[in-house]
Amino acid sequence: MKQRVFSGARPTGRQHIGNYIGAIENYVKLQEKYNCVYCIVDIHALTTLESTSELQQNIFEMTLDWLAAGIDPKKSIVFVQSHVPEVTELFTFLGMVTPLGWLLRVPTFKEKARMQPQNVNYGLVGYPVLMAADIMLYKTDLVPVGEDQLPHLEMTREIVRRFNFLFGDTFPEPKAKLTNYPMVLGLNGAQKMGKSYNNHIELAATPAETLEKIKTAVTDPARQRRNDKGHPDVCNIFSLHKFFNVDRVQEIEVECKAAGIGCVDCKKLLADGINRALHGFRERRIALAKDPDHIYDILSDGAGRAQAIAKETIMEVKTKMGLIRHA
Ligand code: ADP
Repeated sequence: MKQRVFSGARPTGRQHIGNYIGAIENYVKLQEKYNCVYCIVDIHALTTLESTSELQQNIFEMTLDWLAAGIDPKKSIVFVQSHVPEVTELFTFLGMVTPLGWLLRVPTFKEKARMQPQNVNYGLVGYPVLMAADIMLYKTDLVPVGEDQLPHLEMTREIVRRFNFLFGDTFPEPKAKLTNYPMVLGLNGAQKMGKSYNNHIELAATPAETLEKIKTAVTDPARQRRNDKGHPDVCNIFSLHKFFNVDRVQEIEVECKAAGIGCVDCKKLLADGINRALHGFRERRIALAKDPDHIYDILSDGAGRAQAIAKETIMEVKTKMGLIRHA
């Protein structure tokens, strides 16, 4: 039996190259060795959203990106969290075995509470319990995470241990599948690439849009004129060449340091590299987008397969917790 992998991502709409390098590429690879469950966690999104008007569009766009990138619904289960309502049932049950003190100490809760003081809702503090419910509902063995997310997974493991201690062995203790995701820097060079910083390049952008976006990027701040020598080690454009112009990266480094190539040309090279690398993805995405019914069928099929597992888990949990009358 292959081990089961679970990963959830909030529906943030069109994905950017940071998401691709930091997560999606890995999702695609994991499918070869594991039974993967990939979930768009729309309920999680509700904990921080001010408006839900774009939620449906974001789910659709993100699904397109996942499928075009190679997440294969024949190999993996791809679905939307709320389409399998059993997760909210398990969330409620796990809420009864999770001490509030654990949740109030979570650093991301404190940070989010600071960021949205007007909306410190009950769901926000319960976020790690819902995450545990996601992972446990599918009896997950492995969760792909970066080192920074280890504390979150540790909370799930504690909830698993507590549940198993109180009600008998039910859930495997999920292990981290540590992947050292490279952090992709945003075009402004100031922080990681992210939608909220508007320093990103969408995977689905056209070649022309990609070039336009890259033209706005900040480069080596010490390089004022074309003839100044560059410092690739502090240039965010250069850091992207490492992903998209792998075979030319050394040459670009030498040329930049010797002022043989200027920033304008260097940006053009990067746009060419990205556009070449994403050409197949973009063609597949355009084709997929023409048939929304097909996309919704995939999500519905995924939800059905996920629900079959979920129902079994819930039955077992309710039995162990004494909620079902023994015959
Ligand atoms: P979420 O809140 O679901 O993590 P994000 O859009 O922030 O949503 O990230 C989705 C995935 O993409 C995460 O696994 C995250 O680590 C990865 N990711 C996002 N931005 C970057 C980046 N700039 N570099 C590397 N990985 C990234």
